[in-house]
Formats: sequence, C-alpha cells, structure tokens
Amino acid sequence: MQKPNVYLFPQLDDNYGYLIKNPHETKGVLVDPSDLSMCLKILELNDCVASHILITHHHDDHIAAVGEIKSKFNSLVIGYRNDSKIPKPDKEVLDYETFEILGNEYKVIHTPGHTLQHINFFMPQHNILFSGDTLFSIGCGRMFEGTPEVFWDSLCKIKQLPKDTKIYCGHEYTLANVNFALSIDPNNKELQQYSKWASHQENELRPTIPTMLSDQLLCNPFLRCDEDQFMKLYESQNEIEVFAKMRSAKDNF
Ligand code: ZN
Ligand code: FE
Repeated sequence: MQKPNVYLFPQLDDNYGYLIKNPHETKGVLVDPSDLSMCLKILELNDCVASHILITHHHDDHIAAVGEIKSKFNSLVIGYRNDSKIPKPDKEVLDYETFEILGNEYKVIHTPGHTLQHINFFMPQHNILFSGDTLFSIGCGRMFEGTPEVFWDSLCKIKQLPKDTKIYCGHEYTLANVNFALSIDPNNKELQQYSKWASHQENELRPTIPTMLSDQLLCNPFLRCDEDQFMKLYESQNEIEVFAKMRSAKDNF
C-alpha cells in the first residue's frame, strides 16, 4: 500500500488544513477547509482537485470554505451524522464506522469534549490521525460543550491508538501549550527536550505538526491525568477530576 502524502497548510490565524493525496493522483482530500484562498493554493501547487472534504466539527475556523470548495469541485463532503451545525454532509458517518476514499481507509472516532459532536479521522493502514480540536500537541481543545468525563474518555480513545500514530491537529498552539505543561511538570526531561525543539521550529518558521503519539504520551499532561504526579498536584484520586482541574488551570494560565 503506497503511503499517501499529507500536505499541511496554514489557514486563517493559526489553523492548519490538510490535503491528503496519493502520489501521482489528480484527486485529493481536504480536511477542515476554512480559508478558501489557501485551499485553492495548496490544490494548485499539487496539481489536484478536492474530490472529498472531511469535517471534524462545526466551528467556523474548520468549515468556512466547505461550501465554496464543494461548489467549485463538486466535492463529496463527509461529516458526523449527529452534527447538525456542519454543512449537510453527502456522506454521514458514525462512531467507529470505516470507509474508503481514493484507496485509503478511514475510521471515525467520536471524541466529544471540545464540541459534543466532534470526530477524529484515523487512517489505520498508515497510523495517521486527524484530531481537529480534540488533541493538540502538548494540549487539548477547550471544553466548550462537553464535560470532563466525556472529554477524558475521548482522550483515552486516542491514547489507545498505535504509539507511532502521527497526529495532525487543527491549530498551531504548541509553544503556548508547552509553557503551561512546563509549569505543572517542570522536571519532565522529554518535555524539556520537546520544548527546545518546538522553540527551534518556531524560530525557523516551521510547523510543530505532525506530532507522534509516543511523544504526546510522555509530554502532554492532558493524556496523563491518571498518573500519580498529577493526582498529587491536583489533590484528587480521580482522573476525571484531575482533568477538570488541569483544563481550568490551562484556561486561566
Ligand atoms: Zn474548534
Ligand atoms: Fe478550531
């Protein structure tokens, strides 16, 4: 199975969109298109059309260009059946459903928390995850609609993926996330290392995405709410409560 290329491109202020394209093909898949001119540019650069669009959730910074892309390329839009606020998908998918586009398999993972109807797309043949605003590098999305319980449960679903999963998330928030993480986990050698690397990337104007799940398991405090260290810090024996306290500490950081 030939590995598809995943092209990351900036959108709006700090969003990332993605173009998934098999080598030598003239069709590609856009993930969360919100910035029309950037979407058209990446398609043109790679000499392809957007035959499909994947939507992770209904926030404007992830869907604003869906309508225009669809009318230009007659793209097939794929989104969660229960998300009534996204543009009506041509193909509605549900949790754990798998489907195939352009020879690649995708698996839907429902990850409520940031919004209640948020989904991730996992490519099991290549261990690639599009996590939208659920998991960020060294952080997670704000809890706009969900509860700590469902958000923690969603993060646990991601934790169970293969360790070499490459994560492509919706925003470049890594440095701010690293600063918060270091404030609650200052002695973490891997995190210190990651922080240096992230600063270097920023200085060179390079993205910090994708990130490997194995690195996130070591460095991202939001995936480690069940560890003693954070239970002590937040004075709780319950990982959901630890998550709630950590999330609100980050909101006020
Ligand atoms: Zn969002
Ligand atoms: Fe967003």
